[in-house]
Amino acid sequence: MKLELKNSLSVKLLRVVLLSALAVGVVLSAAQIVFDAYKTRQAVAGDAQRILDMFRDPSTQAVYSLDREMGMQVIEGLFQDDAVRMASIGHPNETMLAEKTRDLQQSPTRWLTDLILGQERTFTTPLVGRGPYSEYYGDLSITLDTATYGKGFLVSSVIIFISGVLRALAMGLVLYLVYHWLLTKPLSRIIEHLSSINPDRPSEHKIPQLRGHEKNELGLWINTANQLLESIERNTHLRHEAENSLLRMAQYDFLTGLPNRQKLQEQLDKILIDAGRRQRSVAVLCVGLDDFKSVNEQFTYQAGDQLLLALADRLRAHSGRLGALARLGGDQFALVQADIEQPYEAAELAQSILDDLEAEFALDDGHEQIRLRATIGITLFPEDGDSTEKLLQKAEQTMTLAKSRSRNRYQFYIASVDSEMRRRRELEKDLRDALSREQFHLVYQPQISYLDHRVVGVEALIRWQHPEHGLVPPDLFIPLAEQNGTIIAIGEWVLDQACRQLREWHDLGFTELRMAVNLSTVQLHHAELPRVVNNLLQIYRLPPRSLELEVTETGLMEDISTAAQHLLSLRRSGALIAIDDFGTGYSSLSYLKSLPLDKIKIDKSFVQDLLDDDDDATIVRAIIQLGKSLGMQVIAEGVETAEQEAYIISEGCHEGQGYYYSKPLPARELVAYLKQAQRNNAAIL
Ligand code: C2E
Ligand code: CA
Ligand code: CA
Repeated sequence: MKLELKNSLSVKLLRVVLLSALAVGVVLSAAQIVFDAYKTRQAVAGDAQRILDMFRDPSTQAVYSLDREMGMQVIEGLFQDDAVRMASIGHPNETMLAEKTRDLQQSPTRWLTDLILGQERTFTTPLVGRGPYSEYYGDLSITLDTATYGKGFLVSSVIIFISGVLRALAMGLVLYLVYHWLLTKPLSRIIEHLSSINPDRPSEHKIPQLRGHEKNELGLWINTANQLLESIERNTHLRHEAENSLLRMAQYDFLTGLPNRQKLQEQLDKILIDAGRRQRSVAVLCVGLDDFKSVNEQFTYQAGDQLLLALADRLRAHSGRLGALARLGGDQFALVQADIEQPYEAAELAQSILDDLEAEFALDDGHEQIRLRATIGITLFPEDGDSTEKLLQKAEQTMTLAKSRSRNRYQFYIASVDSEMRRRRELEKDLRDALSREQFHLVYQPQISYLDHRVVGVEALIRWQHPEHGLVPPDLFIPLAEQNGTIIAIGEWVLDQACRQLREWHDLGFTELRMAVNLSTVQLHHAELPRVVNNLLQIYRLPPRSLELEVTETGLMEDISTAAQHLLSLRRSGALIAIDDFGTGYSSLSYLKSLPLDKIKIDKSFVQDLLDDDDDATIVRAIIQLGKSLGMQVIAEGVETAEQEAYIISEGCHEGQGYYYSKPLPARELVAYLKQAQRNNAAIL
């Protein structure tokens, strides 16, 4: 910042000092001049008195002797003095003995001096004879012209005035210089240093001490300012650090250190702009772990975190091929493949990620091994969307949708995903009214005991007859009902319907028949459930152990301790508890022991493949052994062939259920089936 001279403090001071010094000078000089005027007037009177004294005697002589000539000589003598303008000797009542007059002196300044001193002044002295008579003879009168005095007065006035003003000026100048030297100059130097300070690093350049000013106010000022600058720098430094870590926190995932969603969007924005310009394709892969929630529940959250870290590392191994890698949150990750030529490149990447997961993860310092599975949704730029938001959103949707069908696979986005999403939302809406509009009914699938090949139970399975879409599979609408909460009402309806039906069949004579009903996890955690079950058993007068409640393995894993409590109170009502879809979750022996379970239901996926897949056969065998050793019943679901039946029977499985025996049937057809089975059995026996 440049200081303009006219704004400088010292110039302002100069102005003020000069003006006031001038004023004082003028006033003082004026006073002196007035005093001078007074003195000049005195001088005129003094001079007149002296002249009169000098000429009194000769004048008295002349008057006394009436000697006119002598009188004139005296007058001439008086006129030797330039100031005398008129002189007379004589008795006032008679003609003068002698007198003389001359003109007023001409002078350009006399208009002024006349004002102060008067034009002329007359002085008179009486002419008196010597003692003892002292007779009065007349007067000696002189009139003095003031012009001569005026000149002198003026000259001295001018000198007084000029010297007064000059003195004032000199004082002002000296003050200005002192001020300039003591204040303005050091201040300007400080300002110069201040303006060269870098606001980002304020204490980088200290303001140097001014020599000779170390101890005075300026020195103190500089020290204080330097301290202030230092603490400002310290503060800004701290703030920068805080801002940086905030920025990191805002852009990177705390656990894995991978970019978060926000950062990914930034990166993807850039990648898309670049790809758009170079007309290249980009793939966005959204990776979601299957059933990670139950891993978290079964082990500790720390273990879950360990797994996510290990997973992040495996994903990082692909970074060579990736334009970006991020954690979207929870168990979801996103990978961006910039610059691909063909969609199969994305498929290859997805498959290699799934293959990576085949290797087990070590938990708890290697004490436990766990296998993770993932489902991957893939979108392509520019086909599936031209913006970061669309590509990410669709990739996530594709992943979610793929998960709901089957897991451990990848799925490309197809336009139908959008419409399916929309269809799901509509279904969810319709679901709210389905119960009151009586669109649900139950079908029943027989369960066969391998002890005597008789039908010992049925599993109730719900069906939704949608007015427009026809039969909607439960795999599709049960999750929707769980999401919007209608599962509670629907579940109670199923229980009621199933119990009523069982009563009817018992009344028909099938008194040994057992009813299995599926419970959603949401229902299991609903506090009312034990009372509802109790009530139904009483209302329909059903014997204990004739109702079996199926809960899924993954559902139980979500919160084992509460699940155990709820199962206990359910069991108190007399109902049996079966664990459904067993083998698909991450159950361990220890937790299985801690739950009040009566039955294990081997998931149909193992049963179906057991003849082709040695692993599945092993699993089936192991589950049967496990159930037996825990004193539980074991039932296999999804039995479709005689070979499958033979295998599970040979392994000691207690019961079976599947298309091999019957598809799920409406109530009336089931009665026919039961009767037929009774007849067949009777025939065999
Ligand atoms: P889930 O409990 O595992 O039921 C067995 C599913 O396997 C049934 O499908 C059944 O029709 C089917 N199934 C039976 N035998 C065979 C076979 O030999 N081969 C094959 N491939 N499949 C067979 P569904 O009826 O479509 O039910 C699907 C799922 O919906 C059920 O799986 C269950 O989790 C759920 N669900 C059905 N009804 C209810 C219900 O009333 N409440 C609740 N919460 N969930 C239900
Ligand atoms: Ca079931
Ligand atoms: Ca099942």
